[in-house]
Amino acid sequence: MAACIFCRIIKGEIPCMKLFESDKTFAFLDIGPLSKGHALVIPKYHGAKLADIPDDQLTEILPTLKKLVNATGAVDYNILQNNGTIAHQQVHHVHFHMIPKPNESEGLGISWPAS
Ligand code: 5GP
Repeated sequence: MAACIFCRIIKGEIPCMKLFESDKTFAFLDIGPLSKGHALVIPKYHGAKLADIPDDQLTEILPTLKKLVNATGAVDYNILQNNGTIAHQQVHHVHFHMIPKPNESEGLGISWPAS
Protein backbone atom coordinates (compact mmCIF):
# COMPACT_ATOMS: atom_id res chain seq x y z
CA MET A 1 0.00 0.00 0.00
CA ALA A 2 1.54 3.30 -1.14
CA ALA A 3 0.94 5.32 2.04
CA CYS A 4 1.86 2.62 4.54
CA ILE A 5 5.02 3.50 6.48
CA PHE A 6 6.16 -0.11 6.75
CA CYS A 7 5.53 -0.78 3.03
CA ARG A 8 7.69 2.27 2.31
CA ILE A 9 10.42 0.93 4.63
CA ILE A 10 10.34 -2.41 2.77
CA LYS A 11 10.75 -0.55 -0.55
CA GLY A 12 13.67 1.48 0.83
CA GLU A 13 11.78 4.77 0.54
CA ILE A 14 12.13 5.37 4.30
CA PRO A 15 15.46 4.46 5.95
CA CYS A 16 15.68 1.87 8.69
CA MET A 17 18.20 -0.31 10.49
CA LYS A 18 17.51 -3.50 8.56
CA LEU A 19 18.25 -6.79 10.30
CA PHE A 20 16.85 -9.39 7.93
CA GLU A 21 15.08 -9.63 4.60
CA SER A 22 13.71 -12.50 2.54
CA ASP A 23 11.10 -12.70 -0.20
CA LYS A 24 8.25 -12.50 2.32
CA THR A 25 9.69 -11.24 5.61
CA PHE A 26 11.46 -8.07 6.77
CA ALA A 27 12.99 -7.20 10.15
CA PHE A 28 14.37 -3.90 11.44
CA LEU A 29 15.04 -1.95 14.61
CA ASP A 30 12.15 0.01 16.12
CA ILE A 31 12.63 3.78 15.78
CA GLY A 32 11.36 4.32 19.33
CA PRO A 33 12.88 1.37 21.19
CA LEU A 34 11.52 0.37 24.57
CA SER A 35 14.90 -1.26 25.20
CA LYS A 36 18.15 -1.74 23.31
CA GLY A 37 17.59 -4.25 20.52
CA HIS A 38 13.82 -3.66 20.26
CA ALA A 39 13.07 -5.02 16.79
CA LEU A 40 10.08 -5.45 14.51
CA VAL A 41 9.41 -8.42 12.23
CA ILE A 42 6.84 -7.91 9.49
CA PRO A 43 5.39 -9.78 6.54
CA LYS A 44 6.05 -7.98 3.25
CA TYR A 45 2.42 -8.65 2.36
CA HIS A 46 0.40 -5.63 3.41
CA GLY A 47 -2.42 -6.30 5.84
CA ALA A 48 -3.51 -4.34 8.88
CA LYS A 49 -4.28 -7.22 11.22
CA LEU A 50 -3.01 -10.77 11.66
CA ALA A 51 -6.21 -12.27 10.23
CA ASP A 52 -5.64 -10.30 7.00
CA ILE A 53 -2.38 -12.10 6.17
CA PRO A 54 -2.38 -15.36 4.17
CA ASP A 55 -0.87 -18.29 6.07
CA ASP A 56 1.94 -18.75 3.56
CA GLN A 57 3.14 -15.19 4.20
CA LEU A 58 3.54 -15.86 7.93
CA THR A 59 5.72 -18.97 7.94
CA GLU A 60 9.05 -17.18 8.54
CA ILE A 61 7.83 -14.82 11.23
CA LEU A 62 8.44 -16.96 14.32
CA PRO A 63 11.79 -18.36 13.10
CA THR A 64 12.93 -14.78 12.39
CA LEU A 65 11.86 -13.62 15.85
CA LYS A 66 13.83 -16.51 17.32
CA LYS A 67 16.92 -15.51 15.33
CA LEU A 68 16.61 -11.95 16.61
CA VAL A 69 16.41 -13.21 20.18
CA ASN A 70 19.62 -15.16 19.63
CA ALA A 71 21.27 -12.19 17.90
CA THR A 72 20.61 -9.84 20.81
CA GLY A 73 21.60 -12.37 23.41
CA ALA A 74 18.39 -11.49 25.21
CA VAL A 75 17.68 -13.70 28.19
CA ASP A 76 14.24 -12.38 29.01
CA TYR A 77 12.13 -10.72 26.33
CA ASN A 78 8.61 -10.01 25.15
CA ILE A 79 7.10 -10.90 21.79
CA LEU A 80 4.11 -8.62 21.20
CA GLN A 81 1.65 -8.14 18.37
CA ASN A 82 -1.13 -5.54 18.51
CA ASN A 83 -4.26 -5.66 16.33
CA GLY A 84 -6.44 -2.57 16.05
CA THR A 85 -6.41 0.91 17.54
CA ILE A 86 -8.09 -0.14 20.78
CA ALA A 87 -5.37 -2.78 21.15
CA HIS A 88 -2.74 0.00 20.84
CA GLN A 89 -1.78 -0.69 17.22
CA GLN A 90 -0.26 2.51 15.82
CA VAL A 91 1.05 1.27 12.47
CA HIS A 92 -1.59 -0.62 10.52
CA HIS A 93 0.71 -3.10 8.82
CA VAL A 94 1.06 -6.34 10.78
CA HIS A 95 4.21 -6.38 12.90
CA PHE A 96 5.66 -8.41 15.73
CA HIS A 97 7.74 -6.71 18.42
CA MET A 98 10.75 -8.42 19.96
CA ILE A 99 11.57 -6.44 23.11
CA PRO A 100 14.58 -7.55 25.18
CA LYS A 101 14.38 -6.86 28.90
CA PRO A 102 17.38 -4.61 29.49
CA ASN A 103 17.98 -5.36 33.15
CA GLU A 104 18.78 -8.99 32.47
CA SER A 105 21.83 -8.69 30.27
CA GLU A 106 24.81 -6.40 29.89
CA GLY A 107 25.88 -5.19 26.49
CA LEU A 108 22.60 -6.07 24.86
CA GLY A 109 22.70 -5.31 21.16
CA ILE A 110 22.23 -6.69 17.71
CA SER A 111 24.86 -8.95 16.20
CA TRP A 112 23.62 -10.14 12.85
CA PRO A 113 23.52 -12.69 11.35
CA ALA A 114 23.11 -14.91 14.38
CA SER A 115 25.69 -17.64 14.59
P1 5GP B 1 2.37 -0.65 17.47
O1 5GP B 1 1.95 0.25 18.58
O2 5GP B 1 1.61 -0.35 16.18
O3 5GP B 1 2.30 -2.11 17.83
O4 5GP B 1 3.90 -0.36 17.22
C1 5GP B 1 4.38 0.38 16.13
C2 5GP B 1 5.86 0.52 16.31
O5 5GP B 1 6.41 1.01 15.10
C3 5GP B 1 6.27 1.50 17.41
O6 5GP B 1 7.05 0.83 18.39
C4 5GP B 1 7.03 2.58 16.68
O7 5GP B 1 8.13 3.08 17.42
C5 5GP B 1 7.46 1.89 15.40
N1 5GP B 1 7.61 2.78 14.26
C6 5GP B 1 6.71 3.70 13.81
N2 5GP B 1 7.17 4.35 12.73
C7 5GP B 1 8.39 3.83 12.48
C8 5GP B 1 9.39 4.11 11.48
O8 5GP B 1 9.23 4.95 10.60
N3 5GP B 1 10.53 3.38 11.55
C9 5GP B 1 10.74 2.41 12.50
N4 5GP B 1 11.90 1.76 12.47
N5 5GP B 1 9.82 2.13 13.46
C10 5GP B 1 8.67 2.84 13.44
